[in-house]
Amino acid sequence: MQELLKWHRAQSNIDPVELASFVYGSKRRFEHIMEKTKIAKQHGIVPDNRFHEMSRKDAIQFTQLTTYHGLMTREIDFYNDPLGLEEIYEGPGFHFSGSIGSLMTTQLIMNMGTPEQQKWADNIKNHVWFSCYAQTELATGSDVQNLGTLAVYDPKTKEFVLHNPTIESMKWWPGDLGIVASHAAVFAKVMANGKDQGVHAFFVEIRDPKTHIPHPGVEIGDIGPKLSFKGKDNGFLRFNNYKIPQSTLLGKYLSMDDQGNLKNVGNPKRMYTSMMKMRTILLTTTYSVQFKCATIATRYALYRTQFTNSRGAPIPIYEYQMQREKLFKEIGRAYLMQLSTAIFKKSVAECERLALNDDFSQLQNTHVNMCSFKALFTWWHNDGIGNLIKACGGHGYSMYSGLPHLFLIVP
Ligand SMILES: Cc1cc2nc3c(=O)[nH]c(=O)nc-3n(C[C@H](O)[C@H](O)[C@H](O)COP(=O)(O)OP(=O)(O)OC[C@H]3O[C@@H](n4cnc5c(N)ncnc54)[C@H](O)[C@@H]3O)c2cc1C
Repeated sequence: MQELLKWHRAQSNIDPVELASFVYGSKRRFEHIMEKTKIAKQHGIVPDNRFHEMSRKDAIQFTQLTTYHGLMTREIDFYNDPLGLEEIYEGPGFHFSGSIGSLMTTQLIMNMGTPEQQKWADNIKNHVWFSCYAQTELATGSDVQNLGTLAVYDPKTKEFVLHNPTIESMKWWPGDLGIVASHAAVFAKVMANGKDQGVHAFFVEIRDPKTHIPHPGVEIGDIGPKLSFKGKDNGFLRFNNYKIPQSTLLGKYLSMDDQGNLKNVGNPKRMYTSMMKMRTILLTTTYSVQFKCATIATRYALYRTQFTNSRGAPIPIYEYQMQREKLFKEIGRAYLMQLSTAIFKKSVAECERLALNDDFSQLQNTHVNMCSFKALFTWWHNDGIGNLIKACGGHGYSMYSGLPHLFLIVP
């Protein structure tokens, strides 16, 4: 196989390092990703075929161990690294428990928290705390303004009381919640002075930091097996009159009077910018996974032979025009997604920069682009990798080909 690949590469005058540098954005970024991949391999924290044979319980334990090794390996420091988590997904692609939830919470605290609250983010970045992002509920996902989790303000004690009055209103889905999280970014409807004050974000301790046991008034569990992410502890969370200090309400853009009446300070549009970065990570995942799958399928097509020519020599399936059409279409889509994502990343950075100065002129365009292309790219991803699996015949269907696992990474 290696010899055959070498021979095919020798037929091309394209410099692979130059091409990879183009795909990854720059030579420096490409080298950095390769370096992280090497370190991850040395520490055994890369996806492992044994994972496919594991029970869910073993898969969760394996992910925890991977996380532990990953975090102890200070060389892979995805929060403080100038390149960060996104490159880990683009490179070795392993899953850390406590990664996405903590990353989303860190961004939320930095965007929505007061300077005092922003200091909490350091504890997450240094892996002292793990957080989940608890927005979605069993009965309510997209319709965030109608979430059922309540945060009732008590002016006497200056506390909020978190409560899920119905089973439907409990938090359902947050990654890293079931087992890992010590804290949660909780979205709840604030009730104060007998009035609905709208949905706002709190940063809340949900487990005892010493024992890791959920605090009284906090019920937590795992939501069970899913289509993919076998080792991930997506969880549920139900509050029963759980008291939290007023200071846990993320308050950069809020002012509150003694009765708990809330008023927006500055422009609430700023909160939209915090989710955009997460969308760029999702776009990055779609094209990087598409590249990986296209590479697997192309190499397979060069190696796999079916039927013989008039001289009796086996024909590599790559020689068939229809096979090339299947592969080239998906390689083309990978480049399209990668080039577009590079443009989106720049526009998100510019949008964030302007928003810091209360200029929201780019917000609508950027928001619409990110939402539309998230939908388009995840659809292309599903369609494209499905095509590449079929292009590998029966072997594409085997977990050991790597393709089914990659297919299921992007929901
Ligand atoms: C793997 C995974 C990880 C997740 N991690 C987290 C997490 O960490 N934290 C968290 O808070 N949540 C998480 N979620 C939840 C996720 O954010 C929600 O599933 C998502 O927001 C969609 O909400 P929903 O499932 O309630 O779908 P719904 O809002 O019920 O939508 C279902 C369908 O209804 C239709 N629909 C809904 N609204 C409209 C409309 N206005 N117009 C037309 N059609 C409509 C569409 O067909 C849509 O696909 C996760 C989910 C998954 C699968």
